[in-house]
Amino acid sequence: MEIRIVTLSENTANYGYLAEWGLSILVEADGLKILMDTGLSFSAVHNAQLLGIDLATIDRIVISHGHPDHTGGLRDVLTIKGEVEVIAHPDIWAAKYARREHQTAEYCGIPFTREELEKYGARFNLKREPVYITDNILTTGEIPISSGYEEIEENFFIKEGKESRPDFLADDLALIINTEFGLVVILGCAHRGIINTLRHAQNLTGQKLIYAVIGGTHLFRASEERLAKTIADLKEMGIQRLGVSHCTGFHASARLAQEFKDAFFLNNTGTRLTLP
Ligand SMILES: [Zn+2]
Ligand SMILES: [Zn+2]
Repeated sequence: MEIRIVTLSENTANYGYLAEWGLSILVEADGLKILMDTGLSFSAVHNAQLLGIDLATIDRIVISHGHPDHTGGLRDVLTIKGEVEVIAHPDIWAAKYARREHQTAEYCGIPFTREELEKYGARFNLKREPVYITDNILTTGEIPISSGYEEIEENFFIKEGKESRPDFLADDLALIINTEFGLVVILGCAHRGIINTLRHAQNLTGQKLIYAVIGGTHLFRASEERLAKTIADLKEMGIQRLGVSHCTGFHASARLAQEFKDAFFLNNTGTRLTLP
């Protein structure tokens, strides 16, 4: 199987493209074009045009979770595409809020209503379980917390009426492509933990070898201890290509670059990959 991956929007950019905090990655495999996330605003659509990619030809949209830096470009993409299946976890529609240090809570969910997006053509397929797009391409569904050292941040919560409860990001999912050379895993933000995500991908597919990991790793606030454990676990998985994006942060990126040498790269806006 040949897989082509183009990053349409990320926090940083190759020459000529627009960058903004967020993520949008187009994956072509098994004869399908799957758009994973849509960036924060118009950068994904803008960059797709520059890259010569016609978003009217995409076959599915997968939303990694409900935060606006992954869903803000949805309406613009739908304007071009029209009717399309949008695969996600039902909690993407929870009333998500974030509390940042010394600030009042701010809305941190999808910046559109479901009705509005449906009017633009979104056909939501909301499942807690993995969704099989083809025999070899699936979403993780809800990711169990198994590693024992990856914690979910405490600054996210969900409002329900006058009450609020912690948001454990149950909606956070990844896209898995099961190939003859191992798994290719596309991460959104990896709020549930990169190792939890990869272990779940291994369990779902029965494939232990992970060939490539591309996308947001959420290591930007990771402690030295967590980073060391993450690196050890990643090495055990046999990763050949590690393309980090978005919420990885400078420090974790530098550590991973040191450890993974030629396997490592910064997966930023405009990066095109063909695997294997
Ligand atoms: Zn997020
Ligand atoms: Zn994010």
